[in-house]
Amino acid sequence: MLVTAGPTREPVDPVRFISNPSSGRMGVAVAAAAVRRGHDVVLIAGPMNVPPPDQARCVRVTTAQEMLAAVERELHASDALIMTAAVADFRPKQVSEHKLHKQEMPARLELERNPDILATVAARKGDRLFVGFAAETQDIVENARRKLAAKRLDLIVANDVSRPDSGFGTDTNRVIFLAADTEPEHLPLLSKKQVAERILDWIEQRATRARG
Ligand code: C5P
Repeated sequence: MLVTAGPTREPVDPVRFISNPSSGRMGVAVAAAAVRRGHDVVLIAGPMNVPPPDQARCVRVTTAQEMLAAVERELHASDALIMTAAVADFRPKQVSEHKLHKQEMPARLELERNPDILATVAARKGDRLFVGFAAETQDIVENARRKLAAKRLDLIVANDVSRPDSGFGTDTNRVIFLAADTEPEHLPLLSKKQVAERILDWIEQRATRARG
């Protein structure tokens, strides 16, 4: 199982970057749950502040482009891709090799779009299961359903990151499971470990059904 976790970090110069508050806890919980169930796990981790599970092979990356390259490298050997990472959507267009002095710092940073990792590898999906996350602050189900289709996902785990007990940096998560062929399943407030177990239950049930 290939799991991504944490934020990505997009440098402006050697000491400054654009990122987001993802702690990596949800992705590490998914990787740990998969390890406990006996799966071989590769965890591709951005700069996160929690340790990876011991038995997972951890590939450390910094930027979205590095995360994409790592996912492309590891995908062929995997049966499932679980994209828990909060990939930065944009990166600075110019990256300075030296620390920019305050006087040199442009008043506006020019940004360019990062590749969408899931959309990029969608063509190589084959019969792998793809699970994505959707961090939303409004119209959660509608937005998640759009992403489910656009990224060719089997399951999207949507959460309301505007709630204090859910999303970035918390120990708990209140999520909705959305699959193409079923009604949205609203899960109660759970620990991230419990959410991870429910995701693994879903994947294992789906894989068993596919094997007939
Ligand atoms: O479109 P949005 O960023 O909300 O989609 C979230 C899902 O897409 C997550 O599973 C995230 O890991 C993945 N993603 C990606 N590449 C990006 C941005 C998000 O694979 N550049």
